[in-house]
Amino acid sequence: MRAMGAQGETRELARALLAHVAHQRLLGVAEVPRATPCAVVTPPSNVTPPSRAASTIAPDARETLETVREDLGDCQRCKLAPGRRTLVFGVGDPRSRLVFVGEGPGADEDAKGEPFVGRAGQLLTEIITKGMQLRREDVYICNVVKCRPPGNRNPEPDEVAACEPFLVRQLGAIGPEVIVALGKFAAQTLLRSKTPITQMRGQWFDYHGIKLMPTFHPAYLLRNPGDKRLVWADIQKVMGALGLPVAGK
Ligand code: URA
Repeated sequence: MRAMGAQGETRELARALLAHVAHQRLLGVAEVPRATPCAVVTPPSNVTPPSRAASTIAPDARETLETVREDLGDCQRCKLAPGRRTLVFGVGDPRSRLVFVGEGPGADEDAKGEPFVGRAGQLLTEIITKGMQLRREDVYICNVVKCRPPGNRNPEPDEVAACEPFLVRQLGAIGPEVIVALGKFAAQTLLRSKTPITQMRGQWFDYHGIKLMPTFHPAYLLRNPGDKRLVWADIQKVMGALGLPVAGK
């Protein structure tokens, strides 16, 4: 999926901003307050707005997914490393307008080295192919952490802290127009929020200049198929933001 027309410049700015933010985070800068409110964020009044991050733009056109992967190397930066079979970096179009971010690899992903290839992954693939009428390879798919947490537990704060700068750099290299945060963990981590996913989903948030849509995790949908209609509603908003025709379910 390629960028179109005037949106290209915005993408480049967002890309440069993310690269800068990633660099700042690696330098230990946690947060820089924004001077002005963000036009994109319209959380409902009962939702606690997430804290904001750096807003200075410092272009770094040299960043690519390859340079990020190279810097990760045989990563041993956190305690997940010894238990992994494969570091699950991410998959898809390196210039995609749309990125899905999940929590972390499960057993299937750890074995295959690719995100979302198990049962939840099959459902995500159906959302992309049957719902959005895109190919899986048209989007980019990755996770907050790149190594499987033991027993599929949630990633811990030190693990997220070690891994997230690389996710931010990946997003900076890709320069998507929209990020879909899959599930509570990804949404709360990216947005630095404790707001329940039930309140965040379906609302647009700003992630360093990129539109972010939280929605339910596909694994949750496997347990609660009745909520698929809510995810479809969220995905339709994403399709609208990307100018994609909404065909069928
Ligand atoms: N769940 C996730 O959050 N990510 C994956 O890659 C697979 C399952």
